[in-house]
This record gives sequence, C-alpha cells and structure tokens, in this order.
Amino acid sequence: AVEFDDALAMVRATFAARPDDAAIKYFDGVLTWRQLDEQSTALAAGLREHGFERGDRLAVYLQNVPQFVIAMVATWKAGGIMVSINPMNRERELAYQLEDSGAKVLLCLESLYDSVARKVVPDTDVTLVLTTSELEYQNRHDSRLFGSVSRQRSDGTTDLVELIEAHLGESVPDVSYGVDDVAFLTYTSGTTGVPKGAMNTHGNVCFTAQVYRDYAGVGRDGSVLGVAPLFHITGLIGHIGVCLLSGSSLVLAYRFEPQVVLDAIREHRPTFTIGAITVFIALMNAPGFAREDFESFEWIYSGGAAIAPSVAEAFEKATGLPIHNAYGLTETTSPMTLTPRGVASPVDQTSGAFSVGCPVNNTVVRILGEDGEPVPLGEVGEICAKGPQVVLGYWGKEKETEEALPGRELRSGDVGFMSPEGWIFIVDRKKDMINAAGYKVWPREVEDVLYGHPAVREAAVVGVPDEYRGETVKAFVSLKPGSQATPEELIAFCKERMAAYKYPRSIELVGELPKTVTGKILRRELREPAGS
Ligand code: ATP
Repeated sequence: AVEFDDALAMVRATFAARPDDAAIKYFDGVLTWRQLDEQSTALAAGLREHGFERGDRLAVYLQNVPQFVIAMVATWKAGGIMVSINPMNRERELAYQLEDSGAKVLLCLESLYDSVARKVVPDTDVTLVLTTSELEYQNRHDSRLFGSVSRQRSDGTTDLVELIEAHLGESVPDVSYGVDDVAFLTYTSGTTGVPKGAMNTHGNVCFTAQVYRDYAGVGRDGSVLGVAPLFHITGLIGHIGVCLLSGSSLVLAYRFEPQVVLDAIREHRPTFTIGAITVFIALMNAPGFAREDFESFEWIYSGGAAIAPSVAEAFEKATGLPIHNAYGLTETTSPMTLTPRGVASPVDQTSGAFSVGCPVNNTVVRILGEDGEPVPLGEVGEICAKGPQVVLGYWGKEKETEEALPGRELRSGDVGFMSPEGWIFIVDRKKDMINAAGYKVWPREVEDVLYGHPAVREAAVVGVPDEYRGETVKAFVSLKPGSQATPEELIAFCKERMAAYKYPRSIELVGELPKTVTGKILRRELREPAGS
C-alpha cells in the first residue's frame, strides 16, 4: 500500500517523529528536522506576506545546497508548486522556463543572479527574487541559522536567510494536497523540441520516495549521499524525497567534485546513493580513492544512463559492492524499473546488455511495436509504462501530453525488450539509432564492447555522415589515467568482437567526453560539435 499521497503530510510525519535528528549535513553544518520545519514555515509565511497563493509557482535555480530543500517544503506549506531549474541553464533557457511556468518567485544563488538571472527577470512575471549563497549553512554556529551572514543588497533582491529570520516563529494556515495536485515541475532537457515542464504530482512523489526507501532499504538511521543534482528528478526523489519519507539524513556537497564528495563520504559515512555511472567512475579514478571509502554503503543504484557489464564488474572489484541498475525518466518521477533485492540483474547473452531490473510495484511496463500493439516477450519495441509514478502531463502542453502520455501511459522513446522472466533490457534510445547502409546499429552495444578494453575509461558512439553507407559508426573514447591505446588497436579490439557492420570505422581519443550535469554523456554534442 502507498503510505501517503500528499508530500507535505509525508514530511510532516518525519518532522514529528524525529525533530532533533539531522535532516541535512552540509560540510560541517547540520540542519535538524525541527530547524527544517521552522525555517520552511518562516519562509512560507514570508511568501504569503508577499502575496504568494495556492497554485503559485516558485522557481528554484540552485546547486546542491540546503536552501533547496527548505524552499521545496516552504513552497508546499504556502500552497504552491516548485519549479526546478538546472543551474547550468543560461539566459535563453532560464527565460523560457520562467515564462513557461509563470513563476512568481525566483530563488537563486547570488552568483547566478549576477551572471544570468538579472538580465532575464524584468521580462517575466517574477515579482520577488530571493538570493542566497552556497556559504550559508556550511558551519556549525551558535546562532540559530548556522553561518548566516547578513548582506546588504542594493539590487532589489531579497536575501533568503534574512526573510526566514524575519518570519521565524510565525505560523501559516494548514494546507493539504490530493494525489493529482502538482508538487513540482521538472523540465525535460529538450533534446527533442522545446523543453517541457513535466508535472510531478504529490501522488508521484510519495509513491517514488517509498519505492526507493523500500527497494534500497533506506532506514531512518541511514544517510543518503547527494551525488546527482538536486534539480534533476534523480536528486528530487532519490535524494530529497527518500529522506523526507524515511527520516534519513541527506549529505550534500555544493556540486559534484570527486575530492569534495570523497571527503563527505569519509566524514558522514552515507548508506545509500543513486547517480549516473559516470559519477562512480569519476570517484573510483580520483586520487586517493580506496576501497574502504565505500564501506558504509549498504546499497547503490546506478541510474540515468546505461551501464556496461564490464563497468559494473570493475565497480564491484574496486568497492566490494555490487552496483544495482535503476531505470526511469523525468516523466516517471524517476523509478520505472529497478533491480529488486536479493537478485542480481542478468546480462543478455545476445545483445550484451545489462538488465535495468523489473517494473517496480504497481507498475505495468508494455513493449509496443511500430503498430502500437504489444510485441511478444523477447522482441524489441518501445518501452511504455503505466503506474502511480507517471506524470500528469506537460504544463500547458496538451498536444505533447497526448503524444507522449496517451491515457497516462508513457511512451518512453527508449527501445528495449522484456525477457520471459520479466527482466527489462534497454537496447538504446530510439533517436540514437545509427543506420549504416540499412543495418541498425545501437550505440550502447558498441560502447559496451569498448568498455571491455582495459585502457578505456569512457566511450560514446555516434553515427556520422558517410558517402557510401549514409551513416557510419564513430567512437569517442577517453582513456584511464596512465593507460595507453591507439585508435587502431581499439578498432581491432571491436572488430574481433562484433559483426562487421557494427564496429567503429573511426575512433577519436579525447580527454573528456561532454556530459550533462547529471553525468549523462551527450552523444548529441559529439554528433554536432559546436560551431559545425
Ligand atoms: P530528454 O528526454 O529531454 O532528452 P534527459 O535524458 O535528461 O532528457 P531524463 O528523463 O533525465 O531525460 O532521462 C531519461 C532517459 O535516460 C531514459 O529515457 C533513458 O534513455 C536513459 N536512462 C535512464 N536510466 C537508464 C538506465 N539505467 N540504463 C540506460 N538508460 C537509462
């Protein structure tokens, strides 16, 4: 049974159950659940005084700082919807998302205000800009708000912590939500068309937080390491949501830097995390990394991007821990399929793919063919999902909602199959397929082979125009520190291991592969290098 369908009621239960325990650990600073409760109420009171009402939107444009969580709870207490904006976004993207969501309040880092938001806000409906700094909440101080530094701003913005302090002790009227009320809007990255604001409901949030808690066994005495960005659905649910429900503490670092994250691991001994495999590869390759660093973890999910079986093996060898696969999208509020407890995800012998697990509780996954009908087990088609995690639709976009979510069943855009035992395997993203003289080549399969080479750190495969074949296979590879391999050797390695039409015809060695903030390798940028 699903325990909550109102995310505010869910977090209130945790506030009541463990007021004096740590909710957030950020460098040397600790924020207890009681402080999170008091400060979010104060912020909600400040928002209401400003005229923020039921259904209004507050946009959060922040890195991984404690203020993110305070703002999320405060928005719900004030009756609103949080809009989650990628802090990497520049003027054009920020302007679009503020306009599209009609946000009334914007909360951002001072540095992001000065460099980006300042130019954008005057043309939007935003009437209150709250600014804050990543230096707040970093230290244990005697004062109630650790490390609060009062800053005079003369640019018309309001300091977040000052607003909170001004309203501490005030109360706000009780608010409650139904299962289909929107909790936050999360924007798809827009690799296809304009970015769309997915409407993640209170029902979606409560259900998926419970899924992670139960599948990963996150207990109230656990702690969750935030390696994914909080603005992304992985961070919103796999970090914040799971803590709000379970009462575990959330360990944050301002942004992902391997050395800083390793320090946080050593100091706070987290028990669970979820992130893209590239994040774990970066930690394992960081100077000073030792097997003991992962000792405190009880469960780790790799999610958001494909993981090659050889990388999963290398992870286990280096850390002593198995890595479990998790698959989901913004539109499934994170988890759609997960590796359940007690079993290891199998590897498909034909395609070499590592299974992404089985559909989570209460979720029906169908694999549909070109004709929109389910294909037999084992056959490839589009992965579609229906369940309590599927979003209500896209904000203000009925046509796109109808196309991607007919009858609230998500068409994922991923191609895959289901084994007779019920395991789901992803072949690749529909739009990344390479058509080499009529042969379908799925980049993931070629990448998996490359990852099997001992010198390869990361690999990305794309289709490039070719006079004879229409498209041909090209790989971009970064090598492990201290390793050596020539493109010719790597091509020969692939040629030995796959059909002639699949192996890369050219390989380019690069220092780093372009990635999203979530750690996903951006094949699109490799296909269309900037300036081409
Ligand atoms: P957009 O859909 O707008 O291009 P995005 O990639 O940021 O942007 P997300 O919702 O963050 O969208 O990512 C979902 C996609 O990530 C899935 O459709 C799938 O292709 C990929 N993905 C997620 N988890 C896994 C996994 N465990 N294995 C393979 N691929 C995965």
